[in-house]
Amino acid sequence: MDGRKPNPPVGRKKRSLRFFFALFFAKGTALVLKLIGRKGTSMPGSWAIILCPDFLARMPRPKTVLAITGTNGKTTVSNMVEDVLSGCGYDFVCNRAGTNVHTGVASALIANSTLFGKPKKKELAVFEVDERSAGNILPQLQPDILLCTNIFQDSFKRNAHPEFIVDILSRHIPGGTRLVLNADDLLCAGIKPGNQRVYFGAGPLPGDTQLCENLVQNVRVCPQCGQPLAWEYRRYHHIGKARCPACGFRSPQADYFATLSEDGAMAVTIQGEEYRLPLPDSAPMQVYNSLAAAALLSEFGLSPRQLAEQMGRLTVSESRYSEKEVGGRKLILHMAKGQNPVACSRAFDNIRQYPGKKAAVLFLDDFFDAARSVENTAWLYDADFEFLAGEDVVQIVVAGARHWDVYLRLLMAGVDPGRVVHMRGTGEAAGALDPEKAEAVFILYDVYTIALANQVREQIGKRITEKAGGGRHDN
Ligand SMILES: [Zn+2]
Repeated sequence: MDGRKPNPPVGRKKRSLRFFFALFFAKGTALVLKLIGRKGTSMPGSWAIILCPDFLARMPRPKTVLAITGTNGKTTVSNMVEDVLSGCGYDFVCNRAGTNVHTGVASALIANSTLFGKPKKKELAVFEVDERSAGNILPQLQPDILLCTNIFQDSFKRNAHPEFIVDILSRHIPGGTRLVLNADDLLCAGIKPGNQRVYFGAGPLPGDTQLCENLVQNVRVCPQCGQPLAWEYRRYHHIGKARCPACGFRSPQADYFATLSEDGAMAVTIQGEEYRLPLPDSAPMQVYNSLAAAALLSEFGLSPRQLAEQMGRLTVSESRYSEKEVGGRKLILHMAKGQNPVACSRAFDNIRQYPGKKAAVLFLDDFFDAARSVENTAWLYDADFEFLAGEDVVQIVVAGARHWDVYLRLLMAGVDPGRVVHMRGTGEAAGALDPEKAEAVFILYDVYTIALANQVREQIGKRITEKAGGGRHDN
């Protein structure tokens, strides 16, 4: 680890009687849950924190703790980091199977502990941390290295103002935590200015522009003097490279600098030397995800050789993006978190960039809100539906409780009404699509509606094979 020592666990509290009571109770709960066959629940951690509110500050933790946060990409990056570490033979505790809030972190530590709370896997922990819950986790856990992927506007319920999240992180990140930050995101780059840090950033990528096309632009003026910024290039939203003509402020220099090579790999410059790292997918968001994972792992101490070897084996999680070919047509599942205008705009942009004629099935309602049909629709006006207005997007099917609202938004974006079909029942979506029209069908879904998306893809696939086989189909 080139002489870098892990931070001393300053400020961690001693185990008290109350702590032990909470720990034993939580362990009992975990045992009962195991006996009745329930897995991956954060209930043991919830009980521990109810009974001992500063449980996380008292619970012994492995020697080194890596944490991953940010608005978008944190789950993908956490999974990549964990897969690379596993591939390199590390044994570590993580919250992959649970939740990314404080109760999920506590549950993972409890499951990994001996009767009296000492960690069974003593060396390493990797935790995905919900940025909104950072205050309940970071001061207690005291991570050695924290990676922040990016800071964007999210759903209004979580954060309509990204500066609010930057403030939460800056207030709660411990002074001794080393930071790995996105140089191309001025919000992310400005987190907790006094802490030791490295930056990652990407050179020119296909699709870069001079003028931002996105509706959501969370950085418009210089964070130091408030004057308008000049942009060397813009990628999407506030991602890009900027400088301030008035005060000289500029985007930080990247310590991990990536460029895209022609064969779809990534060339990363680390301390003046260039290394080739394979990419599971070369869409700009994936370049950042892979680069962020590589930067964190390199800061942890992995060599570029280890990174190159392990990253070649990575794939993007099937639950976020998956392509299938049926009868010569691509059927693509693409996650687009409901109420998150940036995640939806990225998905719409990917549809726009995809070659050939495309169709899109939109399930954009938030799963939990849709159950009560009281969802806030303001976010639709922050998402770039304009990207779907091109003539190569031949059909759009909208289904869900808010289908009229999405239809209205599509009309306002300039989409030809003749290409839009919309209905309330999600069960009718596959039947409304004409798969003959498009070479690729995108199915956009929310985090919790993957089962629906899969089912619709199967139905569409069946219709394609039926038509090709003159009514005959095999499963
Ligand atoms: Zn300035």
